[in-house]
Amino acid sequence: MIHWLSVLVQTPAHSAVAGPLTYQSELPLAAGSLVRVPFGTREVLGVVWDTLDAASLDRPESEIRAITAVLEGVAPLTQAWRQLVHFAASYYQRSLGEVALAALPPQLRDLSAAQLARRLKRPASGATDNITNTPDLIALSEEQTRAIARFDAETGPFLLFGATGSGKTEVYLRCVQALLERDATAQALVMVPEINLTPQLEALFRARFAGRYGEAAVVSLHSGMTNPQRLKSWLAAHGGVARIVLGTRMAVLASLPRLRLIVVDEEHDPSYKQQEGARYSARDLAVYRGRLEGAKVLLGSATPSLESWHHSRPAAEGGRYQRLEMPSRIGAGGTLPRVRLVDMNLQPKNTVFSPQLLSAIAERVARGEQAMVFLNRRGYAPVLACSSCDWKSECPHCSAYRVFHKIDRTLRCHHCGFTERVPRACPSCGNVDIAPLGRGTERLEEHLAELLTGVRRPDGTALCIARIDADTTRHKGALEYQLAQVHAGEVDVLVGTQMIAKGHDFRRITLVAAVNPDGALFSADFRAPERLFSLLMQAAGRAGRDAAQSAASEMWIQTLHPQHPMFAALRRHDYAAFAAGQLREREQAGLPPFSYAALVRAEARTQEVAQGFLNAASAAASAMEPPLEGYAQVTLFPAVPMTIQRIANVERAQMLIESPSRAALQRFLSAWHAVLQATRQQPGGKGLIRWAVDVDPLAI
Ligand code: ADP
Ligand code: ZN
Ligand code: ZN
Repeated sequence: MIHWLSVLVQTPAHSAVAGPLTYQSELPLAAGSLVRVPFGTREVLGVVWDTLDAASLDRPESEIRAITAVLEGVAPLTQAWRQLVHFAASYYQRSLGEVALAALPPQLRDLSAAQLARRLKRPASGATDNITNTPDLIALSEEQTRAIARFDAETGPFLLFGATGSGKTEVYLRCVQALLERDATAQALVMVPEINLTPQLEALFRARFAGRYGEAAVVSLHSGMTNPQRLKSWLAAHGGVARIVLGTRMAVLASLPRLRLIVVDEEHDPSYKQQEGARYSARDLAVYRGRLEGAKVLLGSATPSLESWHHSRPAAEGGRYQRLEMPSRIGAGGTLPRVRLVDMNLQPKNTVFSPQLLSAIAERVARGEQAMVFLNRRGYAPVLACSSCDWKSECPHCSAYRVFHKIDRTLRCHHCGFTERVPRACPSCGNVDIAPLGRGTERLEEHLAELLTGVRRPDGTALCIARIDADTTRHKGALEYQLAQVHAGEVDVLVGTQMIAKGHDFRRITLVAAVNPDGALFSADFRAPERLFSLLMQAAGRAGRDAAQSAASEMWIQTLHPQHPMFAALRRHDYAAFAAGQLREREQAGLPPFSYAALVRAEARTQEVAQGFLNAASAAASAMEPPLEGYAQVTLFPAVPMTIQRIANVERAQMLIESPSRAALQRFLSAWHAVLQATRQQPGGKGLIRWAVDVDPLAI
């Protein structure tokens, strides 16, 4: 007997074969089974999506090819997982095959059935079971106890609004622990925004749970792992051996058949939003998945996203999340660092470090404490310029400047990667006097070293300045090594980008300084203030984490706008006041979370073509009779160039679509998809390279 199956394979976005393909099989196969199928001239991994009856076939039976093999030993993916993939694909306007296959570990796609079978035979290493030694637990603070009690008693989703250093991680650990003790097969997913925060988290969870549940019970899942490691973790999660999965945004789509708890730490972090392919928000999918699978969802942050904050307003006002508050820092003092603003208008022009800040740093070092200085721009200087003509280090392929990196004397484009040696003289007029404009972390480090020469540590030795940013941590293990040096106290002053402002539990840093955060205050991006506020709060949170020192810790901010209301809120560590102000502005302006938005982006060799395609698709939508579903409730704005309008010689344009109704926006986008696809085939789409939709975009 022949069985007809619809099977998902990896298909390029917007290709003609976007949906499942039909295959035949001699064996009956359950939906969710993994198979190998012929696809063109290749053999690829497929996911059985559904079974079909002969009457519903779209082609003559004789044309339907047979599957090549079944990946035995891997249980079918669950109905809930398939539903999650279905939701993600339709909500974010991508094909099912793309989302489903991208959610599987890459090696699963590459291994033949026989290779996989061999892999599955290898014993899972380190599966030491039931050695019941759980480490002694610290006593919870009152606030932690209360948060956990509410978490147990209520259904959520929960927003754990806890100050930096309030002990949110301990709350996550206890919630996971309670779950595992209550339910012998339950699984928990714990997500963090950055790969480099996973080792620290894994160490914590291992120390707490490996003794009791075995080493194999805790696995990580992120893109920094090798393909064999990822496959191993994925299989452990899929098979239920892994009870705790720690990961970055991609982990939200992992197969976890017994998922009962999802933690999203630093839930406000922009890196939860995927920025290519299916541009999903892992935080939003976590909330959806929790509801779908009956798993409790715990979002945590000291500076929640305004969306989550708004959702956690009182139920009487329409809130849907339960807000758990932990306003105090752990420890004797429990105080948050004092915020000090330096009015840079009172300094000579082009001052980088005010004398007050410098002497405060020097004082800390002399006392044996550590300081951290951050600036959100890496490299030596963002621009190199000629003093006699108007030459600047523009990238020939992008509408952006190439950044000067002094260490290897290169000009590097941070958008397309184009790199050249720094010219000896101005390429335009031959003048040898070309100079860096502005300043990045590399230059800041150099400058600070000059200013602090002569400053000694308590033991009389010279001070040590180190820099941590994407440039110094390019090599594997470099970041761990550098962080270890900081922790060991070998570094006195740490200079870096926002990479150092997030998450790390530095014990001896008592002073944090933002030397020039003004850029974001007047940005065109409506989310810029929110991001800056949270970055500064996060950064402040690095200071004084050791209770003994917290009373004296400080956050310094140099600004030309000390009167800005954001700084007033920051000074009082008053996220709620800041959020209330922002939400009022957003409501008046009709911005998210009071409206819903999507962007359609188009890329072409010229702006004209890119914008033309979008405007043509918009015109086509407005001419439809009857109107497209949802059309009456959406606003389509004219196409505009993107902020960085050209990258690697490709012109980029975007169109904003807005609606007061999420459902209407969804209906419209689904219906409009075919129109966009058709426009591409018509004169309006000539020369278009690609287009894509970004639902709930982070930047507009
Ligand atoms: P957050 O994530 O909220 O910024 P952490 O979870 O990093 O804070 O906790 C800050 C520090 O306080 C950590 O070193 C942690 O081990 C410690 N800590 C957490 N809870 C307690 C507690 N109940 N008693 C003592 N120390 C605690
Ligand atoms: Zn010149
Ligand atoms: Zn470039």
